[in-house]
Amino acid sequence: MREIVALCKRRGLIFPGSEIYGGMANTWDYGPYGVLLKNNVKRAWWEDMVMKRADVVGLDSSILMNPKVWEASGHLKEFTDPMVDCKACKKRFKGDDITGDKCPACGGELTEAKQFNLMFKTNVGPVDGENIAYLRPETAQGIFVNFKNVLDSTRVKMPFGIAQIGKAFRNEITPGNFTFRTLEFEQFEMEYFVYPDKADEAFSEWTQARLGWYIGLGINPSKIKLQPHPESDLAHYAKAVTDVEYEFPFGWSELEGVANRTDYDLKQHEKFSGETLRYTDDEGNKVEPYVIEPSGGVDRATLAFLVDSYAVDKAGDEERVVLRLHPRLAPIKVAILPLVKKDPVAPKAKEIYESLKGKWFVEYDESGTIGKRYRRQDEIGTPFCVTVDFENLETDSVTVRLRDDMKQEVVAISELANWLSSRLG
Ligand code: ATP
Repeated sequence: MREIVALCKRRGLIFPGSEIYGGMANTWDYGPYGVLLKNNVKRAWWEDMVMKRADVVGLDSSILMNPKVWEASGHLKEFTDPMVDCKACKKRFKGDDITGDKCPACGGELTEAKQFNLMFKTNVGPVDGENIAYLRPETAQGIFVNFKNVLDSTRVKMPFGIAQIGKAFRNEITPGNFTFRTLEFEQFEMEYFVYPDKADEAFSEWTQARLGWYIGLGINPSKIKLQPHPESDLAHYAKAVTDVEYEFPFGWSELEGVANRTDYDLKQHEKFSGETLRYTDDEGNKVEPYVIEPSGGVDRATLAFLVDSYAVDKAGDEERVVLRLHPRLAPIKVAILPLVKKDPVAPKAKEIYESLKGKWFVEYDESGTIGKRYRRQDEIGTPFCVTVDFENLETDSVTVRLRDDMKQEVVAISELANWLSSRLG
């Protein structure tokens, strides 16, 4: 992890938050390449979960919601973790992480476990304490409260999904492991509404689909698995939960949870809001849908793609660091590298850069040896480097160097955009 954290800082992928003020623990900022990578993760999810499916629509609900939402959802009462402090070394632990009754760090005596609510509280308006609001700890409730609006304004037919990507906030007791567990993060969540007798089938389809999504974007299949929760561990609203887990350098950890949430949420919101939240089928019957929820973290997914694609290998005699990111995820898709800065090579290379830059994120780099320039692109995972030299110009071609096996192919300039398009999508 240390190497990856250092690479992220050095190459503008992820920076520690508020660094010039000494930082703020467990906050991270995505840099110029990091924001492209994270946006690509979100775009891939949005395309695969919403754009390519006729049965899913999108939503973007607000972070601040009426506090009654959190009463109805159970978060005010139930969204707590047991917190334990060591009386000797003052370290703080999540109760679930402690085995035995002594401090795992120093062996000291521990306090009794106190339940700690993970929601961040804030005030709306100028008077402290008058109007309490919460930063949402998940995006899902924004979907449930808009269930009726979506039904009334679209022509969705069950089964159908409502998907959204957005920020969520949790005052975690033990954040850490880089961007894996932070206070502020992004989720991609989908609530898939089904007839209750079809819920089990939809649950197993979605668990497989979500596992396949990560593998399809390049995650090594031996590093990712499905981990069903034992029945005794299920949250009060869930009939079944299966996590998608990835083997990070710090161990197998949850990337995403797929849950059968039954009709719990809609019923709770019916009870607390007084609105009817039912689906009317073709025969006019009012149905209380069950919901299957694949709920993942954008930052955790991004971290898994980073960790999984990171490799150190050889380029000739030199060691190189390379991110073998799937082309859909790579921050920069193409780098244009003239072999010399002179006329007519550099102007031609610039012209090629200008012609491609509106289609993809493309970089132009003419500084340093070609080896150094390749290394810079390898480190941020650029799949294609296009070089231009005098010989190329005689034949109106360029040489494309492939990131993963470093092989080179000569491509006609007139064909380059098509050539790239067929490989980048
Ligand atoms: P964990 O057990 O790791 O705390 P969780 O089961 O509480 O996670 P969910 O409530 O199921 O998580 O949230 C859905 C997803 O949101 C998680 O799978 C994870 O990818 C992401 N997520 C949750 N908490 C955090 C966090 N503090 N930082 C980053 N991502 C998070």
